[in-house]
Amino acid sequence: MLKLYNTLTRKKEDFKPLQQTKGRSLVGLYACGPTVYFFAHIGNLRTYLFEDILKRVLIYNKHRVKHVMNITDVGHLTSDDDIGEDKMEKGAKREKKTVWEIARFYTRAFKNDLKLLNIRKPSVFVKATDTIKEQIKLIEKLEKKGFTYKVLDGVYFDSSKLQNYGELWGEKEKQLKAGARVKMVAGKKNPTDFALWKFTPPGEKRQMEWESPWAKGFPGWHTECVVMGISNLGIPFDIHCGGIDHIPIHHTNEIAQAKAAYGKPLAKYWMHGDFLVLKEDKMAKSLGDVILLSTIIEKGFSPLAYRYLILNAHYRSLLTFSWEAITNAQNSINNLYEKVSEIKPISKKRVKSTKIGREYKDKFIQAINDDLDMPQALAIMWHLVKDETISNQEKYHLLIKFDKIFGLGLNKVKKTRIPRKIRELVVQREKYRLEKNWVKSDEMRKEIEILGYGIEDSVQGTKIVKI
Ligand code: AMP
Ligand code: ZN
Repeated sequence: MLKLYNTLTRKKEDFKPLQQTKGRSLVGLYACGPTVYFFAHIGNLRTYLFEDILKRVLIYNKHRVKHVMNITDVGHLTSDDDIGEDKMEKGAKREKKTVWEIARFYTRAFKNDLKLLNIRKPSVFVKATDTIKEQIKLIEKLEKKGFTYKVLDGVYFDSSKLQNYGELWGEKEKQLKAGARVKMVAGKKNPTDFALWKFTPPGEKRQMEWESPWAKGFPGWHTECVVMGISNLGIPFDIHCGGIDHIPIHHTNEIAQAKAAYGKPLAKYWMHGDFLVLKEDKMAKSLGDVILLSTIIEKGFSPLAYRYLILNAHYRSLLTFSWEAITNAQNSINNLYEKVSEIKPISKKRVKSTKIGREYKDKFIQAINDDLDMPQALAIMWHLVKDETISNQEKYHLLIKFDKIFGLGLNKVKKTRIPRKIRELVVQREKYRLEKNWVKSDEMRKEIEILGYGIEDSVQGTKIVKI
């Protein structure tokens, strides 16, 4: 049984899909997508990798998954307190381009990062600016039910009107809220109230603004995900996920709007990935101190080495990035590819599973189903790689199966024509030859021949051939 940690209940729970259709159930998965005013940094990408693993584990458990991701191209302000600039307008000014150009460019870059990291494409991508009408409708619904009020700069959600507001919060968030000295927008009634619709400031013209029943303006950031989640997955849907920074505000406010408008929870399971940090600091796009996937590639590492690095830590633990860590990840993944290329069978014939093979598979499933325990799953994989009591053919098939979760591209590894063992023996023989130790070098040649390979010495050097 698949167990997942639910932030809402603060427990690992058995995963029971909401919809049990005939055969395989269809799981609704919503993941908050990027704000496309700059490249995604490797911290953001850690969260998308966690969600990709989650999706792969659901599929491994025979569910079908409808994965919806939004592209935030309006309304995400530089501060969570409903003040500050719209990140998109800020990005456009920085690059002297239109907001629409910025959005297009960074959306494309984001999708390319996903591809490089072998992250499966969401079933649906939705842009916030394509759902403005629906967002206005939701705000009207909230207004009719008495959950909103208007101040000088926008329409706000009154969090004091909703029983149980902040149910996603753990102790940490509650303390944070209690101690928060939020710079309040004039007229805002409670610190936790949030903007549903912001008005274009008088005398200003925004690049992105729309007419509304209240005044010309743009939606607040927390409304888009509610609209896109419900319109694509219904209410409630199964799983909503994102990074832990979304617990206290963004997801809390999504839950509040859905509860107030529909009287229902937005999602059954809420899952959050912990942060990737650089030394002691959290990495923030807005602070400029970021590492991108392209930075990693420029330094000679492969994107999949980054994926491997992420797999090495549990998604609910903080991970500190270092160049040493990615170097180790690159070495490990190279080593893995080499092992796979050595054992890759020539024939595609299916292999019969053995007891030991089944034991590996069971342990692997146990690990991935224990709230996505990837470090444990990797440890099991390495045990298998090193296990000499299992045939190469069965080992290979199991590794390819495990890679359905890891996504390290093991199925693309080509078979090396010359096994490492042979190459090592040839190197040793060369050494003996240089030392003019003919007896030893002849012994090596025989050993190599017993293993099915011949050596042809020529002026161009030594050639190894299969015999
Ligand atoms: P944003 O583009 O800022 O909306 O963030 C996109 C996703 O990345 C969200 O799910 C965030 O929670 C997540 N995120 C932001 N910073 C980090 C970080 N340093 N480590 C892991 N995830 C992050
Ligand atoms: Zn969201």
